[in-house]
Amino acid sequence: MSKPVSKVREAKLELYRKKGKIHAKAVSGHFNTIRWSMVWLTQIIFYGACWLSWDANGLTRQAILLDIAHEKLYLFGLVLWPQDALLLAIALILAATGLFFVTALAGRMFCGFACPQTVYTAIFTWIEAKVEGDHLARLKLDQSPMNLRKLLLRTTKHCIWALLAIWTAITFVGYFTPIRQLLPTIPTWSVGPWEGFWLIFYAAFTYAQAGLAREAVCQHMCPYSRFQGVMFDNTTQTVSYDAQRGEPRNAKRQAGNTGDCIDCGICVQVCPTGIDIRDGLQYQCINCGLCIDACDEVMVKIGAPPKLIKFASELELAGQPAPRGFLSRPRVAVYATLLVVFSGLGAWTLSQRSLLLVDVLRDRGALLRETSDGRIENAYTLKLMNLADVEHDFSIEVDGLPGITIEGEREFSTESGSIHPISVTVSAPLEGERSGLQPIHFRITSKQNPAISVLEKSTFALP
Ligand code: SF4
Ligand code: SF4
Repeated sequence: MSKPVSKVREAKLELYRKKGKIHAKAVSGHFNTIRWSMVWLTQIIFYGACWLSWDANGLTRQAILLDIAHEKLYLFGLVLWPQDALLLAIALILAATGLFFVTALAGRMFCGFACPQTVYTAIFTWIEAKVEGDHLARLKLDQSPMNLRKLLLRTTKHCIWALLAIWTAITFVGYFTPIRQLLPTIPTWSVGPWEGFWLIFYAAFTYAQAGLAREAVCQHMCPYSRFQGVMFDNTTQTVSYDAQRGEPRNAKRQAGNTGDCIDCGICVQVCPTGIDIRDGLQYQCINCGLCIDACDEVMVKIGAPPKLIKFASELELAGQPAPRGFLSRPRVAVYATLLVVFSGLGAWTLSQRSLLLVDVLRDRGALLRETSDGRIENAYTLKLMNLADVEHDFSIEVDGLPGITIEGEREFSTESGSIHPISVTVSAPLEGERSGLQPIHFRITSKQNPAISVLEKSTFALP
């Protein structure tokens, strides 16, 4: 006999959330303050940075914009093109290495304080608490049958969540389409197909991830939690319960006879992923430190020293001294070295970056031509790529042989972001002592900004 549909649904839900919905108890303390400071910092940057403008060459544009249609990334005064992919690669390597470095030092610190999933879950949960009440009121509401009050509270919460998710999606798309142009097109839904897709997708994604899935993402979907262990060593500081001091736990603590843990369970109640840190290091722990805040409060109340739960390494918990210096921690030393090397490489690549790229091709079909006045002519194609934000006029000069000169036009306009192929004829007097291929140089310089100048090697064919 087949199972009723509701039973099948329950069974499926249990696959990823065995303990039911988590309503974490609010807690105050040092780590909670850091957590909310990070929420404010990251969200002020995210919601605010797309509204910043930048004046460049008499034009005002969005300061941070990834203009996919025109293949440009604007970062304040910097404009990056697909040719700058190396810089993007270095930035990604730095981000990944930075994450590994922080993880080796302090476990999932990024998860607890800066991961968008954690940050948005904190915001959505805060809204839920404002509408439905504290964790006990929310638990009670979950268990109560549907009535008008519950319907009103749930509708209000979901409407606020939806509005926030929509605004988050608008902000996200505003980093790809100028937000001041995007906003007026939304009420009439005259957005482009890609903008429309991403607005709907990102709003639904934010709502589902931060409002509905919440800690289930950290527990069951986050790949980082699964491989973080390979970055740990016995000196990595993670949130840990000091079992030597806490056990045997006893509700009726007697200093000297029992441990300091009074088994109040508050560290579990405040945990956003619903785990018990006293069970040891678990991949679900996001290192947010809220259980430290909660337990410290309890320790103060019972007159015991704080830090029964604390950031500690495996060595510290075992009562062994932590090794001193980077060299005694090879993993950390390797990540730190990589950070320094790639930061230096990125800075050097940026400093060497030219706003003009030039490719010189000598016309090999017609190697050389002798003119009636006794000069030799070679033909070239110069490909000018203007990586500046505006159009530039470039002048072309040539040197390397006595009397060498460019015949005809020497100035060319090139639009921003375009590759401009130009044909140039170069002539030099026929002199007896030189023959064959002679090295020459082309100097291409912007009229508007002489600092944009490129020297490119080539050869001149003599008989
Ligand atoms: S909050 Fe502290 S005292 Fe209470 S159960 Fe957790 S570890 Fe034990
Ligand atoms: S166990 Fe503590 S540090 Fe880990 S997720 Fe829970 S509250 Fe945060």
